[in-house]
Amino acid sequence: MDTGKQPAVTQPAPPAYPGPSGYETKQAGGYLVQPGYPVQPVVQGQPPGTTIIHTQPAQLLVGMGFYENPVAMTCPYCQASIVTATTYEPGSLTWIACGGVALMGGWLGCCLIPFCIDALKDVLHNCPNCKHQVGVYRRV
Ligand SMILES: [Zn+2]
Repeated sequence: MDTGKQPAVTQPAPPAYPGPSGYETKQAGGYLVQPGYPVQPVVQGQPPGTTIIHTQPAQLLVGMGFYENPVAMTCPYCQASIVTATTYEPGSLTWIACGGVALMGGWLGCCLIPFCIDALKDVLHNCPNCKHQVGVYRRV
């Protein structure tokens, strides 16, 4: 007898889909947990001693409400109610503008123009009473 090749290896039949066996979906315990929903525990009175501390940043005088205009405030040095005296000082933006003018060809003194423009300068706030610097407004 001629025993030819087997055309193909007979693979076992794929098992049938077992179906929902062993996995009870919802309606089992009547408690549905939605995925991704943050579970917020019900706080029934905080234990004593637990104080929520709102950390406040230290009193920074730089960039805190200081702009070009004088600011009415209480001087932290002499505790007087003052309106700050503003003076202009060449700052970073002044030098940036100077470099920008120079790059555009404004060599003949034109690059010094930003130093004459107060809008490009930083603003120093000083106390008129004790002359301390109480704040600064930097444009960059
Ligand atoms: Zn002062």
